[in-house]
Amino acid sequence: MSPDVIEQRSADPVVEVTGLCVDYHDPLGRIRVLRDVSIAIWPRETLALVGESGSGKSTLARAIVRLLPRTGVITAGSVSVEGREVTTMSERDLLSVRGSRVGFVFQDPDVYLNPVFSIGRQVSDVILQHKPVEREQAWQAAEQQLARVDIRNPALVMNAFPHQLSGGMRQRVMMAIATCCGPALLIADEPTTALDVLVQRQVLGTLAHLKRDVGMAVLLVTHDLGLVAENADRVAVMYGGTIVEVQSADKIFVEPKHPYTAGLVAASRPAGRRFATLAGSPPDLRKLGTGCPFAPRCERALARCTGEMPPLQERPEGGGAFACWNPIP
Ligand code: ATP
Ligand code: MG
Repeated sequence: MSPDVIEQRSADPVVEVTGLCVDYHDPLGRIRVLRDVSIAIWPRETLALVGESGSGKSTLARAIVRLLPRTGVITAGSVSVEGREVTTMSERDLLSVRGSRVGFVFQDPDVYLNPVFSIGRQVSDVILQHKPVEREQAWQAAEQQLARVDIRNPALVMNAFPHQLSGGMRQRVMMAIATCCGPALLIADEPTTALDVLVQRQVLGTLAHLKRDVGMAVLLVTHDLGLVAENADRVAVMYGGTIVEVQSADKIFVEPKHPYTAGLVAASRPAGRRFATLAGSPPDLRKLGTGCPFAPRCERALARCTGEMPPLQERPEGGGAFACWNPIP
């Protein structure tokens, strides 16, 4: 954990999620996708959210500012952003939180960049939306913002259109848009998954210095534990719509408490010339019982695990939490 984060613990969290439940409605009925999720993100920290596909990472990231698809509903719990309750906030107030206090970068920038407007127009429009400045000032601020995300020819790129830029450049533009109002939190949902490994590292390098420059916290959603080791202060592990472990990025690789975390860690490292695999497959959320969702795949499962969901409890020595009846000693 960086010294910055320890220092900031005396401050209030940027985001506090408590007992959050989210359901999706689809033609087959209702599925509970988030179950009693509680997590806090502290000023200036990078919290990585990891877990297999379908575990609910994007749903949690989007629920923080109620950017869920129309079929998604928050059915219980609370989300507070800088002390303001989001679950009951008016749409108008939400607009002042989104883009201004909380910025977003998603996996596919093409969904969010408009193909018919220049990059300069799109970045400066966001600045105009949130700040009391004239168009010319907004244009200049947008150009500076592009330089901040390490775009080498900002003046040229201002007049370019999205299709003229590489994938890495488009993701940098998204980062410029997401941070132009100096947010307290940046949510980055698989921001580099679509990029090749070299570009991925460069973009994450930009994200790291942007975080320091802006002084913001980052929620980094990823399924790549390798990225976590280099880029996060803390890690929250999701499984079957619940958080099963929260731990510092230093400790999680060496002292995982939850068997699922241990499986993920093993699968991220080559054993000999092969990567270990995690046996079994993620749960069908429609068929979850009352017990731990990982129990059917767990070598350490006890009879209790299939009947009763373990609560997220603090580690006895502090500095982390896990939800398991039979944790790794
Ligand atoms: P990935 O790593 O694949 O991005 P994720 O951890 O982000 O996965 P989510 O996208 O949050 O997972 O999805 C969680 C669950 O919710 C999945 O079972 C998914 O099928 C379901 N789901 C997601 N979006 C919808 C939707 N719009 N309607 C119905 N179900 C959905
Ligand atoms: Mg996702």
